[in-house]
Amino acid sequence: MTETHRMISPEDAVYMDNNATTRLAPEVLAAMMPYLQDYYGNPSSMHRFGGQLGRVMAEARQKVATLLGAASEEIVFTSCGTESDSTAILSALQSFPEKRHIVTTRVEHPAVKNLCENLDSLTGHKHRLTRLPVAADGTLDLQKYEESLSDDTAIVSVMWANNETGVIFPIAEMARMARERGILFHTDAVQAVGKIPINLQDIAIDFLSLSGHKLHGPKGIGVLFVRRGTPFVPYLVGGHQEKGRRGGTENVAAIVGLGRACELAAEKMAEENTRVKALRDRLEEGLLASIPHSMLNGHKQDRLPNTTNVSFEFVEGEAILLHMDQYNICASSGSACTSGSLEPSHVLRAMGVPFTAAHGSIRYSLSIYNTEAEIDFVLEKMPPIIAGLREMSPFWKADA
Ligand SMILES: *Cc1c(COP(=O)(O)O)cnc(C)c1O
Repeated sequence: MTETHRMISPEDAVYMDNNATTRLAPEVLAAMMPYLQDYYGNPSSMHRFGGQLGRVMAEARQKVATLLGAASEEIVFTSCGTESDSTAILSALQSFPEKRHIVTTRVEHPAVKNLCENLDSLTGHKHRLTRLPVAADGTLDLQKYEESLSDDTAIVSVMWANNETGVIFPIAEMARMARERGILFHTDAVQAVGKIPINLQDIAIDFLSLSGHKLHGPKGIGVLFVRRGTPFVPYLVGGHQEKGRRGGTENVAAIVGLGRACELAAEKMAEENTRVKALRDRLEEGLLASIPHSMLNGHKQDRLPNTTNVSFEFVEGEAILLHMDQYNICASSGSACTSGSLEPSHVLRAMGVPFTAAHGSIRYSLSIYNTEAEIDFVLEKMPPIIAGLREMSPFWKADA
């Protein structure tokens, strides 16, 4: 490779951006290899070389179902979390064409947010959108939610856990309130699956989205859980794959990989909620204690075990990330440079995080592959990075 194309090696990366994507687990890669290399058949073929893959996919489907407490026929493989989200919401609108109201929140992932905000142009019908507000700690007001539900509501779409703050919503209760009124309920559980226990047997959810690459599976594979008996209209219309619910030749290797990733997630869930959570807490407490004018974004308890979102006042998130990048520390900022101006994320804006803090927010999202030594390294590097940037910040000088 030439100098300009030199890659940051995975050994050098201090990877704390697992809500963006995760490392493929070595066990998952091993499970996939035979289907990338040798067993390239099409599961729909009449010959056994292809047809035998039907059994392989059935095993993977069962593994996904087991992690969710679902039945395997309720699992539809898609290409990603985004496709699953679109499929659920558009299916509900087509199943109930007379209903034109959608309930969602102000803090959804763009996969739901931008779809809901563009439904009129996509479908050619006028829709009414309720975007539920959140409190300063990122939590929802259930009474406002209940008041928003009406006879005209086609679907509720609320994420299970927020990708930026990790805040968890009371999905079981919200789904029950929708079910009581005969309203379909969809949850984008991309960040929740594998991190917190989910048992769909006990919960009145009709649709649930997940994505392989957020739980140490491959990219390019997702799932939409569709509860038995739920009216359903496919999004990708084509062949009879997935019992006519999603056309397109199956990504067999990725499906096998996702099955293995779900199995591993069940095995590692306890570690995620003990060791990873302890690493997260140590990082968070260390940052807040060693850096003045820093604060946590999001509810301290009702939160994913791997995520912390911390604001460093009077500095720009993108500048912080660039300095962290010098040490190969990988994280995300809640502030993105769009069309030349720095815009705080819609999530932090919805929480009312003050301007000076929202701009300097950093999301650290851990995984089972992080170590204590990495936490110590980040805790050593962050205070001088923030102090150095503040020295150059006109906001800091004016305020300090
Ligand atoms: C990553 C993510 C998605 C999108 O998943 P893709 O598989 O990348 O399309 C949707 N929702 C949430 C909450 C996410 O974190």
